Amino acid sequence: MRYRKLKAAKIFNGVEFLDENQVLIVTENGIVEKITSQADAGDDVELLDGILTPGFINCHCHIELSHMKDVIPPYTGLVDFLLAVIKNRSTEAEQIEESIAAAEEEMYANGIVGVADICNTPYAIAVKKQSSLRWHNLVEVINLHDSNLEKQLAHYNAVLDQYQSLPGNSVLTPHAPYTVSAATYKAINAATANQIISIHNQETEAEAELFQKGTGNFLKLYAQFGSHQSPFAVSSTSSLQTYLPYFTNGQTVLLVHNTFITEDDILFAKEHAEKHGLTLVYCLCPNANKYIENAMPPVELLMKHDCHIVLGTDSYSSNWQLNIASEIKTLLTAFPKLSLEAVLKWATYNGAVAMQWHDMLGSFEKGKKPGVVVLDEKKFTSQRIV
Ligand SMILES: [Zn+2]
Repeated sequence: MRYRKLKAAKIFNGVEFLDENQVLIVTENGIVEKITSQADAGDDVELLDGILTPGFINCHCHIELSHMKDVIPPYTGLVDFLLAVIKNRSTEAEQIEESIAAAEEEMYANGIVGVADICNTPYAIAVKKQSSLRWHNLVEVINLHDSNLEKQLAHYNAVLDQYQSLPGNSVLTPHAPYTVSAATYKAINAATANQIISIHNQETEAEAELFQKGTGNFLKLYAQFGSHQSPFAVSSTSSLQTYLPYFTNGQTVLLVHNTFITEDDILFAKEHAEKHGLTLVYCLCPNANKYIENAMPPVELLMKHDCHIVLGTDSYSSNWQLNIASEIKTLLTAFPKLSLEAVLKWATYNGAVAMQWHDMLGSFEKGKKPGVVVLDEKKFTSQRIV
């Protein structure tokens, strides 16, 4: 068996930084053998510039929107952003497929080893079939009216069937609180027992106004679908507290964005999850929040309540790159008290645990094959080396 002995300024093992002068030893294929002192590592140690870290888990992406790079200008706010996606997303299949292939290569090269990916169409199947990344395919359900449920579910189940030909899990998932009706939640809850699902949660302030008053910017979105009012009953509470109770089936729920989540919502969610055996994961996509709303999620509040935090890139329709190192940079810039060690854990071990991939990914432990990445902590560039 041939081994590679890797040494850098620092080693992050998925959970914490190790003492100096440690050497990571992996097989040629990237299976972790051990971490040992330089004195015991022997000859042929490769010296690398930067931090050695396990590969990154991207817990929220839409790879099939990769052709939308630089199409929608930043800072439009969510509703105008969504209208622009609807208007601009369709183009020739060849261009969509080429962009998906380029995005997969980009993610591989910058150290992403697993992706929770939103799927609306079968476009990404060909690339995922060849990919050495690990994928969790979330077939996104949008259905505003209970009366359309049967027809819409037939459509989404047909897309799901195609994804289920791939290795890894594929599952139905709700899109967002403002696009899913009550009967639709119930159907998704029934279809996803003990699965990992996601929902775009509280990405804009307008979401609260929609649920509490039935007014605001979202009416522009519904007008696009020919309706002049909210399809949902006005509720006395937030979007999260309205929809989360529909989930009672042991799911892991990736709450994505959380830009406008409140402390009350976090406490409510915790209590509901405990009662119904849900696992809640808070996925932050800071560059997309910057791009769309020019806002940041309440990171300190999530940390105060010991929320399980992970990171995602979201898509090229709302990001300048698909690169977890860049998400880390944005968080550390916006929250100077955050430590690189904490955020690296979100990007690696926490993501792997959330996606139930920690048997192989997320940390440097003997027998795992997590990918080995070098992170430049000044430039926040990253490169996969094994
Ligand atoms: Zn998204």
